[in-house]
Amino acid sequence: MSELETLHIDGAWRAAASGATREVLDPADATTITKVSEADATDTDAAVEAARRAFDSGRWPGTPVAERADLLRRVAGLLQRDREDLALIESRDTGKTLEEGRTDVDDVTSAFRYFADLVANETGRVVDAGSSTVHSVVVHEPVGVCALITPWNYPLLQASWKIAPALAAGNTFVVKPSEITPLSTVHLVKLLIEAGLPRGVANLVTGAGDPVGARLSEHPLVDLVSFTGGLASGTKVSQAAAPTVKKVALELGGKNPNVVFADACATEEGFDTAVDQALNAAFIHSGQVCSAGSRLVIEESVRDRFVTELARRAEKIVLGRGTEPGVECGPLVSAEQLAKTEAYVASARADGAVVRCGGFRPEPAATRPASGYFYAPTVLDYCHGDMRVVREETFGPILTVETFHTEEEAVALANDTEYGLAGAVWTPDAGRARRVAGRLRHGTIWINDYHPYLPQAEWGGFGKSGVGRELGPAGLAEYRETKHVYQNLQPRPVRWFRG
Ligand code: NAD
Repeated sequence: MSELETLHIDGAWRAAASGATREVLDPADATTITKVSEADATDTDAAVEAARRAFDSGRWPGTPVAERADLLRRVAGLLQRDREDLALIESRDTGKTLEEGRTDVDDVTSAFRYFADLVANETGRVVDAGSSTVHSVVVHEPVGVCALITPWNYPLLQASWKIAPALAAGNTFVVKPSEITPLSTVHLVKLLIEAGLPRGVANLVTGAGDPVGARLSEHPLVDLVSFTGGLASGTKVSQAAAPTVKKVALELGGKNPNVVFADACATEEGFDTAVDQALNAAFIHSGQVCSAGSRLVIEESVRDRFVTELARRAEKIVLGRGTEPGVECGPLVSAEQLAKTEAYVASARADGAVVRCGGFRPEPAATRPASGYFYAPTVLDYCHGDMRVVREETFGPILTVETFHTEEEAVALANDTEYGLAGAVWTPDAGRARRVAGRLRHGTIWINDYHPYLPQAEWGGFGKSGVGRELGPAGLAEYRETKHVYQNLQPRPVRWFRG
């Protein structure tokens, strides 16, 4: 395959029909890593038609689950074989550190293994029809052709969270990675082919949201769209999919509260842990995480001590090229994200927030070229719910601070968002922790932790954070139709009509 053959359609690697290309940039210095083909609606249609043929007349949907599970396990093995290559690709493409890239590869390996085990054990069920002359079963079948659209912050991970259950369930698919970070998805599709996936089952189109994502969302031959990305694009996907009544799963943004009670800071160890984790919650991957703990919601009595220590540590975060040893945080993914971050900090200043650290682009350094999209981790104190920076997802290294006096206020603040993806509560008081966790309107709640997720546990959002779930049994169910088969073993006339 040549460098520009980044579309995989009907079992073949090819360039875009139009010959168009796009440069993929390294966000650490804005240089070109490589070029990829830029697909349009014509390529997209060809990919959908290939996936349709493979579903309607190919052998994958009818392949025994044990064989499908074996293939997923082979993919898991290949991911581990290529762990370093993939981590490097992801680091250069997204800016994240190599260590984060390795963690992503390990996480997606677990996801492939999890769905292999799950599908092998999840059979249908026999239903008691209340009659010895009826045999009634509920069975699961693949949905059909799936369009899988992913964002740029966790390209390998987001693609895998969709591809693994889609394949486990017996679907065929067309995947469209973000145009900014397509490289790890290209590599992943190579691994699927190497693992022995039949022709036409996995199709890949590299290209822009509009036309490629838009065409996939409206396409009459697509049965399901699973989209991860921002609220604005997710709304368009939903609208485009509506006339053909596709199944739609949306994993959208978040504005996630990290709620810290004073008792969590009562011991030195507790204080150190809560500060450390608040830092991690907000600034890992420069805050470009849908579940980033970008709102610190903290009890007023400990605010000063906590925020002072948090800002001290945030200033020490080592920013630089993700592939350099010792670097703790990479650049933002694009010039656009950098500009957006700067605009949010400017709006927060104008709204009266107090900048406790950051709020600027750092000076260039040996590991940090001037042309890279770096921004200093920024803590904004004295924030409130009327500020744009508190209400909107910034997707940058920005942490806002709001305070409360009572548990009631803490819950109200944490729920005061149109999103509902994730949140955390910090307290050694087990009763309070469970009470608050029970009242938070978010899809994942961490108690005395931040960020871990498990392939066995569902991931997704309340409110405008999305529709549907990924991972866990519900993550597989998204990709399956459920069919009730009722068999009358002794058919006779019913004589409802007597004539
Ligand atoms: P984005 O919405 O700009 O793009 C996401 C994908 O959608 C890309 O592949 C893009 O090309 C495509 N797209 C854009 N317009 C489209 C359209 N009209 N029709 C179909 N597809 C279209 O998002 P982004 O900037 O790449 O990613 C950041 C966003 O993703 C953030 O809001 C973040 O919170 C969200 N995200 C959510 C989760 C989650 O699990 N909930 C995980 C990661 C990222």
